[in-house]
Amino acid sequence: MGKVVVIGSGVAGLACAIRLKAKGYEVTVVEANSYPGGKLTEFTSNGYRFDAGPSLFTMPTYVDELFEISNEDPREYFNYKKLTHSCNYFYEDGTRLTAPSDPNEFATVMHDRLGENRRSVLRFLRKSGRMFRITAPVFLEKSLHKWSTYFSFSGIRGILNLWRLRMFSSMDSVNRSSFSSYKTVQFFNRFATYNGSNPYKAPATLNVIPHLEFGYGTFLPENGMHDITASLYQLALRKGIQFEFNTNVTEIVIDQKKVKGIKAGERTIDAELVVSNMDVYHTYKRLMKGFELPQRIEEAEPSSSALIFYWGIKGSFPELDLHNVFFTREYAKEFESIFNYGSIYPDPTIYINITSKHVSKDAPEGCENWFVMINVPANKGQDWDTMVTRARINILEKLRRILGKDLKPYIETEEVLDPVKIESRTSSRKGSLYGSSSNSRFSAFFRHPNFKSGVKGLYFCGGSVHPGGGIPLCLLGAKIVASMVKPIK
Ligand code: FAD
Repeated sequence: MGKVVVIGSGVAGLACAIRLKAKGYEVTVVEANSYPGGKLTEFTSNGYRFDAGPSLFTMPTYVDELFEISNEDPREYFNYKKLTHSCNYFYEDGTRLTAPSDPNEFATVMHDRLGENRRSVLRFLRKSGRMFRITAPVFLEKSLHKWSTYFSFSGIRGILNLWRLRMFSSMDSVNRSSFSSYKTVQFFNRFATYNGSNPYKAPATLNVIPHLEFGYGTFLPENGMHDITASLYQLALRKGIQFEFNTNVTEIVIDQKKVKGIKAGERTIDAELVVSNMDVYHTYKRLMKGFELPQRIEEAEPSSSALIFYWGIKGSFPELDLHNVFFTREYAKEFESIFNYGSIYPDPTIYINITSKHVSKDAPEGCENWFVMINVPANKGQDWDTMVTRARINILEKLRRILGKDLKPYIETEEVLDPVKIESRTSSRKGSLYGSSSNSRFSAFFRHPNFKSGVKGLYFCGGSVHPGGGIPLCLLGAKIVASMVKPIK
C-alpha cells in the first residue's frame, strides 16, 4: 500500500519524494544519472570546485520547510548566509555599481551611480512586493488548474487585483515608464532572465522578481549551491527513501486510466502514484504510450538556455564578488538574437559567479573558480561548436575591455556546458533552463498542470510544469503535488 515512484532526482523530484514520504508513502526515486540533483549539481577540476547549474539562491525557507515537515532541524544539516550585497554591475561606459540588498541603501546607490530618482526606485520595489503578495498565493502556491484555487479567499483577491499585474504591458515598457535612466531600465529588465524570458515581450507581471532579491534577500549555502540538493538527498536517505541511479525510466504503466508503476527497460516497479520530474515534453513523448502531448505544450516557446565556461583562474580579482554582471550596450538586440534568430549576440551580457570569494576551499589559494555564463537560445540544431568558439573570443574581449586585463594567461582549467549538454544530461527540452519561457501573457496558465486529468495517480513536478522553473518554483511545484495526495494513515 502507498507506493510512489518519482522519476528523476532534480530539486523538485527530491522535494516531492521527501514530502510524500512525510505523508506516509513508501517512496522510490529512479534517476537516469549516477548522481542526484539534476541541474543542481557540482564537479571538481584541478583543485577547483564548481556548481554546475544554479548560482543564485532565493527563498531558502522552502528548503528549510522540507526538513521541518520531516521533523528535523534544518540548521543541523543545511546552513546558508544572507548576502549584504546582491551583485556587482559593470556597464560598457565604465559605470560600476554594487547593489546592496537593503532597499534604501540600494535606492541611494542607484541615485548616486545612475542618477536615478531614489523615490522611483523605492516606489518600484514597493510595487514589486505588493504584486508578489497578490500573485504568490494564487499563481505560485496553488494549482491554477483546480476550481478551488479561484474560489478561495486568496484566489478571489488575486482575480480582483489582476489589473495591478500589468499583464498586457511588457516588462520593458513598464520599466521605461518607471525610470529615467536607460541603465536602470536595463538593470530591472535583466530580471526576466531569471526564468529565461525576454523583457521586451514578457508581461510586466515578472516585475515581481526583484522583490525576491530586495524584499527577501539573496543567500549562499555554506558549501555552495550544491549543498541544496546534497542535503536534501541526505535527508531523503535518512527518512528511508530508496534511490535507483543509472536507471532510465522508459515507460509509465497506465491501465484503465490508472497508474500501475513504471518500466525501466525490462524491469517493472509497481506503484500507485508516479510523479514525473522529467521534462513534461519528454515524459509524454517517451514514457506515456498512447497519450497525445497537449498542443499548447508542443507549441510553447522554450526558455533561453545558457553557455557556461567554468574557468579555474590563477589569480584574484578584488573588483569582483560572488555575483557579477557585465552588461551589453544593446540589450534589445541581445534578446532579439536569442529569441528571434536562435543565435548568440556578439556582445553578450556576461554573468560571472565566483563562490570562492565566500567559500575559500572552492579554489586553490590565491586562485578563483569562475562560472562565466551568457544567455543563449535553446537548442534547435545550431552549429554549437562554431558558436561556442566565437562566443569565447567575444567574452574574453569584452572582459578585457571592462576589466582592463587579458584573461587568457589566467585560465588554468576550463570546462564548457552548452544547451546540447544540458539537454543530454537532464532531458530538458532543447536544453532550456526553465521549461517554457514567460514571453506570452498567458504562459502561467499554459504550463502543464501538476497532475494528469483522466489518469489517477499521475503527477508532474519540476521546471517544465506549473508554477515554472528556478529553485523556489520547483520547490513550490513539489508542494502543490503533495497537497493533492491524501496522507496514508
Ligand atoms: P532537473 O534538474 O531538470 O532534473 C531532472 C532529473 O530527471 C535529472 O536528474 C534527469 O537525469 C532525470 N530524468 C529525466 N528523465 C529521466 C528518466 N526517463 N528516467 C530517470 N531519470 C530521468 N535556478 C535558480 O533558481 N537560480 C539560478 O541561478 C539558476 N541558474 C541556472 C543555471 C543553469 C546553467 C541551469 C542549467 C539552470 C539554472 N537554474 C537556476 C534553473 C534550475 O536549475 C532548474 O529550474 C531546476 O534545477 C530544475 O529542477 P527540476 O526538478 O525540474 O529537475
